[in-house]
Amino acid sequence: MKSASVIVIGAGIGGIAIASHLAKRGMHVTVVEKNDRPGGRCDRFTRDGHQFDSGPTLFVMPLLYEAEFAALGASAREMLGLQRVDPTYHLVFDDGSQLALTSDMKSLREQLESIEPGSFHGFLRYFEEGHRHYQLAMDRLVGRDFRTASQFFNLANLPLLIRLKPLVPHYRNMAAYFDEPRLKSAFTFQDVYMGLSPFEAPATFSMMPYTELAHGVWYPQGGMYRVVEALMEIARQSGVEFAFDEEVEHIDVNEAHARGVVLAGGHRITADAIVANADLPYVYQNLLPEDGMAAQLARKRYSCSVVSFFWGVDKRYETLSPHTLFLADDYRQNFQSIIRDLALPDNPSLYVHAPTRLDPSMAPPGEDTLIGIVPVGHLDENGDQDWRAIRDRARQSVFKRLALLGITDLEAHIKFEVNYTPLSWRKRYNLVKGSTHGLCHTLTQLGYLRPRNRHPRYHNLYFVGASTHPGTGMPTALVSARLAAQRLLDELPTS
Ligand SMILES: Cc1cc2nc3c(=O)[nH]c(=O)nc-3n(C[C@H](O)[C@H](O)[C@H](O)COP(=O)(O)OP(=O)(O)OC[C@H]3O[C@@H](n4cnc5c(N)ncnc54)[C@H](O)[C@@H]3O)c2cc1C
Repeated sequence: MKSASVIVIGAGIGGIAIASHLAKRGMHVTVVEKNDRPGGRCDRFTRDGHQFDSGPTLFVMPLLYEAEFAALGASAREMLGLQRVDPTYHLVFDDGSQLALTSDMKSLREQLESIEPGSFHGFLRYFEEGHRHYQLAMDRLVGRDFRTASQFFNLANLPLLIRLKPLVPHYRNMAAYFDEPRLKSAFTFQDVYMGLSPFEAPATFSMMPYTELAHGVWYPQGGMYRVVEALMEIARQSGVEFAFDEEVEHIDVNEAHARGVVLAGGHRITADAIVANADLPYVYQNLLPEDGMAAQLARKRYSCSVVSFFWGVDKRYETLSPHTLFLADDYRQNFQSIIRDLALPDNPSLYVHAPTRLDPSMAPPGEDTLIGIVPVGHLDENGDQDWRAIRDRARQSVFKRLALLGITDLEAHIKFEVNYTPLSWRKRYNLVKGSTHGLCHTLTQLGYLRPRNRHPRYHNLYFVGASTHPGTGMPTALVSARLAAQRLLDELPTS
């Protein structure tokens, strides 16, 4: 009996994972990837003995990874060699004060109380709310496939409007727990991972700081790219075939079906079903015939982008923690500048990653590998953002912030720099507007309201990855892969 054939466009986390699910169920799966290696945004490069995770640096929501690896017949713990990072983050404020977010409650209590007397009690109540939001969101939203409107809009889900606080802005909700602005920002900055400002994000997202402290932030042996390597091992063992350096130029469709793909060189490959892991808005805009949907998607809200600096340094900065976040006092203005004005704030909040603190082999002995990430507005298709000037200002901001920690000589010790702007993100991974996290998670872009995992017209064309349900992030890409695979298997059983 001939097995059904599937082409997956893109070898991102979601693409590799869905390919494995389908191959394990007997399908003949080929993944076509435009770049020369797998991983998509979860990428890596090495230069002069310095290893850089150029995309994700935070392994969060470990329970999701464990469940999704188990669904692929594997163990995340065994394959990834995880070590817990605790404190998770070192936060540094404009006045030089610091807060190490840690699961050591004695230390956290002392630190919180020194910033705002009585705040530890507020933290415990906030943590409890985060726990409730996490459980409910996982059970009722993230892990579910919404194939029909009634599965999302129904009486059983109505209590979630109260219990998950989706209509309450996250930052406003913080007033119930803390007075001190530094603490309000310490437990809301994670909203940027969802592409949102805490001033508009639903209070539901208190689940992020909750899971980071309760379940931990982890680090895979050898860096985040280890996740890609592990998924590739699973895929290859399942019989998935990969074609790298092959860009899909368009998806070949008739009235109601996708018949295959046409590659940049003109080569045509047919299949019984197509899965697009490339960024969903890009697929509608570039790989499918124009039908109005691309224009609709262009009007949706996209997450911000980042300017990233990758530095090989001839000195080791032992005092720098693995994840340091510099949070600006003008927190609200920062988000407005990025999200509303699509710009770089005057005094941007930013992040510095020092992986050698977790794995010394990420740099040659005595040297350091440093990554600076500065959130900026995404590409303004109609505007005239000067990315050279923005990048140079962002770089100076990183140096200025590091000086708060007594690191004043970094510039003199940089052996080489590689940097990415939103233009790089668009070019490398075909991300619309160079938006690093894809469509953001406003209320109108969540659950059933997020673009679905199957095309409404071409019923054998499926979507997987950040801009589909359940959304952005590596573990959620794995969930998206499982849900889309299940739908495809239900609708296109192996013949
Ligand atoms: C700077 C940055 C930091 C991040 N930090 C974190 C973090 O700390 N933790 C976390 O969990 N997540 C983080 N994320 C988000 C996370 O990386 C993504 O949500 C996740 O990796 C997306 O996976 P995906 O399945 O959507 O595929 P993608 O990564 O979007 O991969 C899609 C693939 O399709 C390929 N492709 C595109 N067009 C074509 C075409 N025409 N033909 C063939 N192939 C094509 C692309 O080259 C790419 O390989 C970060 C992202 C970025 C960019």
